[in-house]
Amino acid sequence: MSTVFIISAPSGSGKSTLVSRLLCGDRGLTFSVSYTTRKPRGSEVDGQAYHFIERTEFECRLRKCEFLEHAEVFGNYYGTHVSSLQAAKTAGKDLLLDIDVQGAAQLKKRIPDAVTIFVLPPSKETLEQRLRARSQDSDEVIRRRLADAANEIRNYRLYDYVLVNEDLDLAEQTLISIVRAERVRRVRVEDKIRPILETFGQVEP
Ligand code: 5GP
Repeated sequence: MSTVFIISAPSGSGKSTLVSRLLCGDRGLTFSVSYTTRKPRGSEVDGQAYHFIERTEFECRLRKCEFLEHAEVFGNYYGTHVSSLQAAKTAGKDLLLDIDVQGAAQLKKRIPDAVTIFVLPPSKETLEQRLRARSQDSDEVIRRRLADAANEIRNYRLYDYVLVNEDLDLAEQTLISIVRAERVRRVRVEDKIRPILETFGQVEP
């Protein structure tokens, strides 16, 4: 059975770096490539960062119930395709999703044992500094992102884990620890325990 890991964070909190570091070092994890109606940015490649589609196609797929969850973020649709989870299960891997708070809430309802992780910046000042250091956005966009962050942060209580990204290396290690610990929850490893018990001559009813 695949474990579903959901990560959400305000823009600029370092979530993408944490996600790529986690994926790099963990072959048991597969990333869920979302569908979106937003246009590709910079060097983003279709099928890698996202599946980029038109709004009409998204709405058509939505009507056909192809998404496990979906949300409208900053005026664009984003959604997790049902095939992401099926593919992870078939490959015997766990699934990592980088989705917003609305999508996380929808998925947690559908998959109650999904593990949810919220990444917080250490303060508003630090978030602002990070957004400015990226020099990607205008003053107005930065102001909007900070206002959005304040709204998103209110939802931290919906998550199982809250990770403060003050030191990137430390946050990465903590994230790796969360994934490792969740994988050995008793309910997730029952199938592996049974054959071990059998070697001791103990067979569960
Ligand atoms: P960006 O456009 O900057 O890549 O992502 C904007 C926001 O959309 C981020 O918060 C990201 O986590 C979220 N997002 C990306 N894919 C999905 C998805 O499939 N579903 C939902 N609900 N949010 C998503």
